[in-house]
Amino acid sequence: MEYSVSKLTGHSAAELERAAAECVRACADEATAVRSDSELKAFRDRWVGRKNGILTQINDLWLKGAPKDAKREAGIRVNELKTRIQGLVEGAHVAGDDPGSTAAERVDISLPGVRRPIGAEHPVIKTMHEMVAVFQKLGYSVADGPVVETDYYNFEALNFPPNHPARDTQDTLFIAGQQEKPQRERLLLRTHTSPVQIRTMEKMRPPIRIVIPGTVHRNDPPDASHSPMFHQIEGLAVDTNITFGDLKGTLDHAMKEFFGSSVKTSFRPSFFPFTEPSAEMFVSCFICGGSGRRGADPCRPCKQTGWIEILGCGMVDPNVFEGVKHNGYDPKRVSGFPFGMGADRIALLKYGVDDLQLFFQGDVRFLQQWA
Ligand SMILES: [Zn+2]
Repeated sequence: MEYSVSKLTGHSAAELERAAAECVRACADEATAVRSDSELKAFRDRWVGRKNGILTQINDLWLKGAPKDAKREAGIRVNELKTRIQGLVEGAHVAGDDPGSTAAERVDISLPGVRRPIGAEHPVIKTMHEMVAVFQKLGYSVADGPVVETDYYNFEALNFPPNHPARDTQDTLFIAGQQEKPQRERLLLRTHTSPVQIRTMEKMRPPIRIVIPGTVHRNDPPDASHSPMFHQIEGLAVDTNITFGDLKGTLDHAMKEFFGSSVKTSFRPSFFPFTEPSAEMFVSCFICGGSGRRGADPCRPCKQTGWIEILGCGMVDPNVFEGVKHNGYDPKRVSGFPFGMGADRIALLKYGVDDLQLFFQGDVRFLQQWA
């Protein structure tokens, strides 16, 4: 027998409960009995039709007819019931058809597909990939390591002894609660990608040629040229008979590949604990062509000098090899050169961006320029 909305004997919770359950049961039974598209339409009209559908009748009989003090309770229950009935009606389908292949859901293959926007490489990541590719062509492989490092790998193994003043130049972020541990085991956020040099030499015997892209952290307040998180690209070549000439030739070639064949390189003495001798490498300003001027204006990126400092490098300090001597790195037998540069700074220069923070704010209007 077809369901019809019953008059309630009262508006008690129990009575509403009983009537609602009966209604849901009837609706579910009718939903499973649908055999054709026309029956499906009739079923939907009967239950949720706006003019005299069952839900409309329930609203009139059970809710509008309720005495004042029972209105609230009846309202809640009728709403619950409506949600359940609507769910049943929406889920109903012609028996034998798959749910999901009702007329509304059937695929119309004549319609155009959904176009999903393709993302773009972030300018810093793009710069890193391009620089890494330059070294990969020279036979370097990519090495990786943890961002949370021990004091040993970040400092001691790289010839920064405890209390050495060179540690002060790297405003380090330490992990809290490490005071109980011996100093070399204390955890910190790596301040450079150089720990990966040591980790790689522990795992692989010479010769090695690796390039290490990665994030590093220092306690620098964010401004137009600083960020507590930034990116480095570092490299290391170790073999027998590696000389400073190999270093200069390799880096000069890499800079010409990256910035264009017209750039010149210049090496100036510097200091790093893990290299001896150490150098800073400059490239001739690729913005003003080395003239220091852009038309009538001074060239700001090179501070009118015609040169831009790009990276630090040098020959591996024998003390660094001492720690990995057991794996074939006898400083009397092998030599090598590391180099490291800031990927963010290179991206700033390359794309003419004047504020480092723009790279990390995630503003799509800014990032879309690389799409
Ligand atoms: Zn310039």
